[in-house]
Amino acid sequence: MPAAEETCTSAILSALASGTVQVHDLTAPLSDRTPTLVLPDPFSNLIDFSLEEVSAYNEPGPYWKHHNIHTGEHIGTHIDAPIHWISGRGGKDVSQIDPQRLVGPAVVLDFRSLAADDPDVLIDVHHLETWQSEYGRFPSNAWLLFRTGWEQYGDDRTAFLNVDATGSHTPGFTAECARYIAEKLDISGIGVETVGIDSGNAGALEPPFPMHYFLLGADKYGITSLKNLDKLPVFGAMLVVAPLPIVGGTGAPTRVLALAPQNTKKMEAQS
Ligand code: MN
Repeated sequence: MPAAEETCTSAILSALASGTVQVHDLTAPLSDRTPTLVLPDPFSNLIDFSLEEVSAYNEPGPYWKHHNIHTGEHIGTHIDAPIHWISGRGGKDVSQIDPQRLVGPAVVLDFRSLAADDPDVLIDVHHLETWQSEYGRFPSNAWLLFRTGWEQYGDDRTAFLNVDATGSHTPGFTAECARYIAEKLDISGIGVETVGIDSGNAGALEPPFPMHYFLLGADKYGITSLKNLDKLPVFGAMLVVAPLPIVGGTGAPTRVLALAPQNTKKMEAQS
């Protein structure tokens, strides 16, 4: 095609070059301080992320520095693939997720006021129905990104996991809401600010961990530990989700980027 022809991708590239589209990184830094989900006894836990030095411009490698990485799959900002859950055991591993589903419209839902009053709050179907009646329908292939304010605890493992003698207290979803998202909405997945896509107390729900159960069983995907959602408009951003394609992997640390118009007023409803 002629070089001067305007295409949809050239329009995006022009907007990136001029700064009218900004790229926001929604990914938490990955280090040995990254908060990791802690399952209660008798369940087994993943290892934390760590770097192991192999050389550092020294005798084992005089001109270079490199590390081995040690990590669980579900550490930091990461994606859950269908085979992570028993309901999706016949489904895709993380390397098999269609790239077309990893790029799509971001919709940002702000439920900070609910979570501020109650860290155990469960978002329910009626919250999503009220939200849609106010703001509009979710676009096809969307990623629903839930703001709960939990990002503010991302540098403090204790506050982020919020565990006491009665378990973990972080916001999530009712089983009915998880089923509604999985079965009624034409979306690719959800993203949350917390350490997991279910609430801290979701082991006591029926089924246990219902967002995992319904979402992953319906070939939809979940992303955790997102940050910078305050940089995005309610509608109009494009999400780019880039997990490591680990063959047989049930999930993977994931870089999550969002392209958003520079001048969009934050968190305002579409007129
Ligand atoms: Mn996970």
